[in-house]
Amino acid sequence: MYVVDVVTLSPEAVDRALQEGVVGRARQRQLVRLRLWDLREFSRDPHRKVDDAPFGSGRGMVLMAPPVVAAAEHAIEARQGGPPPRVLITAANGRLFRQETARELARHPGGLVVVCGRYEGIDARVAPLLGAEEVSIGDYVLSGGEAAALVVVDAVVRLLPGVLGDPESAGEESFERGAALTRGGLEFPQYTRPRRFRGLEVPEVLLSGDHGAIARWRRLQSLRLTLERRPELLDAAGLSQEERALVEQ
Ligand code: SAM
Repeated sequence: MYVVDVVTLSPEAVDRALQEGVVGRARQRQLVRLRLWDLREFSRDPHRKVDDAPFGSGRGMVLMAPPVVAAAEHAIEARQGGPPPRVLITAANGRLFRQETARELARHPGGLVVVCGRYEGIDARVAPLLGAEEVSIGDYVLSGGEAAALVVVDAVVRLLPGVLGDPESAGEESFERGAALTRGGLEFPQYTRPRRFRGLEVPEVLLSGDHGAIARWRRLQSLRLTLERRPELLDAAGLSQEERALVEQ
């Protein structure tokens, strides 16, 4: 079974948040095992302190290396062998976490350890000591790594074999390079019943039953949205000359 370890100062909050929806069902069906490790349990301080002031001065506090390394190593040892997990540290200054990162992690036979930062971050020696990758979920600063860990775990778990049923399947989606229509770009708009709502109609082509026409319309919509909202993804979306001319009209 795929194992995810999360090292955090808020194990109960992370556990609660991951009891719902697709991840919660995957846990119940034993497609993934999630283990929470309370960082304070690994402090050697009588007051369970895990942070200290930064060397070189500056505001805020930094998570100390010893408890973080001890917690992550304990989580890894608790796996009792098998292929080593990928270890991620949440960090605003990390490499951007993308859909392809989630795909790689979901394929990794050793599963995943996520270490959540807090305060001004984690002592920089932790990443090399653990062989960890620092990942950011976007260009903004959160107050703690727990929200980022939830994002990472959700994005990975939904890609594990057997987790998604057909109606939620992870094929034709935004950012999926392997998808026939989106090809790494943004997904086309979706509609469901009723056909008319407050004067707005579902596009006629979606009711036509002509699968070729629907696929062409969706590809065009995907390209238009990508051009409008995320133009930097267009190259990845594999635009033909003809399509480029079409969307730029
Ligand atoms: N001083 C850090 C900086 O400027 O890069 C920000 C620290 S932030 C207040 C506290 C913690 O929240 C970080 O250690 C990290 O774990 C998490 N965090 C904040 N923004 C994040 C982001 N965009 N992606 C992932 N984790 C983030």
